[in-house]
Amino acid sequence: MIRWHEASDAIGYAVTDRLGGVSQGPYAGCNLGDHVGDDPVAVRANRAAVLRALGHADLDLVLMDQVHGADVAVLDAPPPQPPRTDAIVTGLAGVVLGVVVADCVPILLSDAGAGVIGVIHAGRPGFTAGIVDITLDAMAGLGARDIRAVVGPSVCGRCYEVPVTMVSEAAEVAPEATAVSWSGTPAIDVASGVIARMAARGASVTWLSGCTREDDTLYSYRRDGTTGRFAGLIWREHSGAEAAGQQR
Ligand SMILES: [Zn+2]
Repeated sequence: MIRWHEASDAIGYAVTDRLGGVSQGPYAGCNLGDHVGDDPVAVRANRAAVLRALGHADLDLVLMDQVHGADVAVLDAPPPQPPRTDAIVTGLAGVVLGVVVADCVPILLSDAGAGVIGVIHAGRPGFTAGIVDITLDAMAGLGARDIRAVVGPSVCGRCYEVPVTMVSEAAEVAPEATAVSWSGTPAIDVASGVIARMAARGASVTWLSGCTREDDTLYSYRRDGTTGRFAGLIWREHSGAEAAGQQR
């Protein structure tokens, strides 16, 4: 359920996996995606179980209606419905931002000092469209200067064969995204491209291990087609002043 979890400077970070949970069939395990054909009751139960496991059953979970684009939602209040974007940035405390994936790159962003957090869903199309830099610009617009990026598990370059034109397009954003598949054909390593852009922008990077296609404790669209989604999650605790008067 919780593959990786860290809390520092009042920011919480987590990445889930498919273990635990109540979903059945091709979604078996802790599927957090409600757009893949799974039973909505199971998805709601899995999402609630993840928040409980993180000790934050009290917080709102804000996910996205992900469209493989390059738009960023800048939130100053919890949205009534998931924004139709592939990134969110906010200065809000007390909401859990989430990105759901099954091969795409989940990215968690923070500037603890500025009190700004963000998430990115970076698949090949979004990466090629520049969503990493666009989101870092949006973070800067909220005052973020000292960015930490956590890059979660995704499909690795050897497992992501694509037509050579797609490799060329991604390489224009970052040459590091160029890869070769297990069978020697052109491939894309989106995560390496993401990390190259983060480094170029001065962010400090934590890269979590795991290839979704090779690790069956993670969901992989490339491996399984119909399947679930795991998530990257980030939240900012209420500060002392914000928490004053609240029951802890
Ligand atoms: Zn792989």
